[in-house]
Amino acid sequence: MSRDKEFWNEEVETLSPGEIEALQEDRFLRMVKQAWESPFYRQQWIRAGIDPEDIKGIEDLRKLPFTTKQDLRDFYPHGFLCVPKDRLVRVHISSGTTGQATAVFYTRADIAAWAELMARCMYMTGARPGDVFQNMTGYGLFTGGLGFHYGAELLGLLTVPSGAGNSKRQLQLMKDLGTTIIHIIPSYALRFMDYLNENGVEPRKDLNLRIAYLGAEPYSEEVRRRVEEFYGVKVYNSYGLSEMNGPGVAFECSYQKGMHIWEDAYIVEVVDPETGEPVPEGEIGELVLTTINREGMPLVRYRTRDLTRILPGSCPCGRNHRRIDRIQGRSDDMFIVKGVNIFPIQVEQVLMAIPEVGTNYRIVLKREKNVDEMIVQVEVTDRIFIEDMRELNRLKGKIQHELKSELLITPLVELVEPNGLPREEGKAVRLIDLRK
Ligand code: ADP
Ligand code: ZN
Repeated sequence: MSRDKEFWNEEVETLSPGEIEALQEDRFLRMVKQAWESPFYRQQWIRAGIDPEDIKGIEDLRKLPFTTKQDLRDFYPHGFLCVPKDRLVRVHISSGTTGQATAVFYTRADIAAWAELMARCMYMTGARPGDVFQNMTGYGLFTGGLGFHYGAELLGLLTVPSGAGNSKRQLQLMKDLGTTIIHIIPSYALRFMDYLNENGVEPRKDLNLRIAYLGAEPYSEEVRRRVEEFYGVKVYNSYGLSEMNGPGVAFECSYQKGMHIWEDAYIVEVVDPETGEPVPEGEIGELVLTTINREGMPLVRYRTRDLTRILPGSCPCGRNHRRIDRIQGRSDDMFIVKGVNIFPIQVEQVLMAIPEVGTNYRIVLKREKNVDEMIVQVEVTDRIFIEDMRELNRLKGKIQHELKSELLITPLVELVEPNGLPREEGKAVRLIDLRK
């Protein structure tokens, strides 16, 4: 068997746009029948006056109402199930970063299909049997760990289920096993950089890493660049959410120009978050996804709240599954200061392009005498001399100036020593809004 094949699943990955559409239509119509079996969709569609018999083609997708996170909460835990409970083999519960938890159930076929998507993702970036894959994200209810784990084993990688945290052990494993590929959330990739620096480890020289998968939280191109340079790896962006299985929804190919969405598994829409109407091709809006290859718990027109756009044009890699741009953030991450709309990622872009800036930052919003104040707290690198007031003031001025040119308002900047800001176990908390 040739191990040098170009695609993990050539038949599906190289479908033409027309073939993708035909496959989507088949699967969509099948999914509508399944969804009708679930308490939630039956109730929602009856209320909206929809008879599933009237859904005749993919162009009827837009007749169906959206599904929201709130719906998942209201029908927690079993209200979306389309199969008897004895067919289920797994449940994941969303970490609930923004509120009450939601549950997603999987049948055996769902787990297998998810693993297949993940294997495609990793294969597409050059992962091959013989690679040692250290999975440095949380296992358990969070989908990131097990999602990658099953895909990596299917692909044939030697999989190290190290989980998140415990940097000392992570490093030891990397050295002992000769880890070549890691999966890690961006904020931990930055934090682990500090750990390696403190311990005098130069990854390019002392380790064997060549690929890093970063996802699960928003991050900027500047963070990608830093991680690539420091570790000597190629960083590939990985996008997913528990409601859509977890990771494996969209992933970068070796060209690193946007993430291919697997359109044999998901129908993609990008809508105006206010009106729910589709935005013109290529414009930024809210990503809306429909599962068309899931049997336990299909979701129809799920509002992800993630903001992105479809990238125009075709990808030189030969896959016609369309690409989305880096996620800007969730629509609810945006904050308003002095009438200006800001995403945390804009602040990150500016900060991470400044070499004296370290690996962590956060944004604090306050209201003093009815005036909003934005404070950006920034860790400096250990290469700058903290006792030198003049140097610090110069750096502060530089950060302030560059933030102002990006954001058009002038935030207060506070410099903090390396490791001076609080760190979270899981996803980073970038915004502290004390105004409410
Ligand atoms: P929770 O909703 O509790 O955080 P999830 O693990 O389901 O739990 O989080 C999914 C969310 O994480 C996505 O909706 C998106 O906002 C964010 N996310 C995942 N991957 C990326 C990525 N590559 N870039 C930016 N944001 C991402
Ligand atoms: Zn591609």
